[in-house]
Amino acid sequence: MAVSRSGSARAAGHAAVIEALRREGPTTRTELERMTGLGRKIISERVQELLDKSLVTEGELARSTGGRMPRRIGFRPEVGLVGVVEMNVHHVTLGLTDLGGQVLVLRQIDAEVSAGPAAAVELVADGMIAVLEEVGHALDELWGIGVGVLAPVDRRRGSILPGRLFARSAMAGWDGYPVRDRLHELLGRSVWVDNEVNLMALGEVRSGRARGFSDVVFAKLGPSVGGGLVVGGRLQHGKAAAGEIGHLVVPHDEPRPCWCGGRGCLDTFVNDTVLLAEAGGVHGSVAELSRSATAGDPGAVAVLRRAGSRVGAVLADVVTLLDPSLLLVGGTLVDDDEIVLSAIKAAIADEGISVAAEGLLVEHSHLSDRAGLVGAAAMVVDELFSPAVLGVWLDDGRPVGRLDALVRTR
Ligand SMILES: [Zn+2]
Repeated sequence: MAVSRSGSARAAGHAAVIEALRREGPTTRTELERMTGLGRKIISERVQELLDKSLVTEGELARSTGGRMPRRIGFRPEVGLVGVVEMNVHHVTLGLTDLGGQVLVLRQIDAEVSAGPAAAVELVADGMIAVLEEVGHALDELWGIGVGVLAPVDRRRGSILPGRLFARSAMAGWDGYPVRDRLHELLGRSVWVDNEVNLMALGEVRSGRARGFSDVVFAKLGPSVGGGLVVGGRLQHGKAAAGEIGHLVVPHDEPRPCWCGGRGCLDTFVNDTVLLAEAGGVHGSVAELSRSATAGDPGAVAVLRRAGSRVGAVLADVVTLLDPSLLLVGGTLVDDDEIVLSAIKAAIADEGISVAAEGLLVEHSHLSDRAGLVGAAAMVVDELFSPAVLGVWLDDGRPVGRLDALVRTR
């Protein structure tokens, strides 16, 4: 769908205003001029058009710097709903948020990733209808759906990246699967897809601990290892698979063959199955192993310390390479645990180049198991309010019908 040059300049102005309001909260027209670099007349027109479409609100009086007291303009997160989905190894979590990423309802559905993507996507479609009914909303109030998957993603197509990464894993059937198009067929809404650990990092940057940080590493531990990288305030995708820290080589151990075709990958040492075996097979889950360790069981403590040291040794290289200010660690292995986190900190202090390790904050993920869902909502709202997409639907006041055609042909 062609958007004229003047139309795209208008949309860029609308997008810049919305972006500033989402980032900074309610503010005055004068502040919007400063934040966007746009002139007074343009800001005044774009704000009025957004007010006409009920996408922003004009509210409380700001403190005056002389003359008439200006009113603050605010983004209205309540005007639309976002469907958020996280596909995990043994379950799917799905729910609804507002446009600000505020979670309204969440549900967990049992689903084995090894059963393949077609079954999982059908469960998501049914589950989405069910949560909408539960909170009394219709499907056409859903402005878009964000999906996190346990795999590198071809984001332009919204499909699982095809290639040898899955050849020997439990996710073999997911290779190349068109998640976006299949879910769009079932629900008729716009869908965007990314790797779930990328979305966890994005969630923390937008609404969690990493807000305001420019350079952040997010490590997810359990059931396997994954990473998300934020550099210069932007989530990094590389060609598609940036941040796969589970397939960096652990420096001090005898290499083991990895399903990815490599040898000595972190994922061959630190995943739920291996850790439970190392602990003697007496714990039913990693959560149970963590509880034993916290209660002082020396065998469990040793397993978790060793896991943390291995993760830390790999992260020390990542820290040396990127020199981030904040390293967030999430996932079931560290959810209720200090032992792994302490071992990670110690290994980074030992092995990272000192200029990078000094002053680095290493903390638990603050959003925890919600990080990926909050990130999925941010991804959808970023896309909906990007100049190219906003230009298509703004005149309608909400993203419907025509937008779906655009998203599918991008
Ligand atoms: Zn590997």
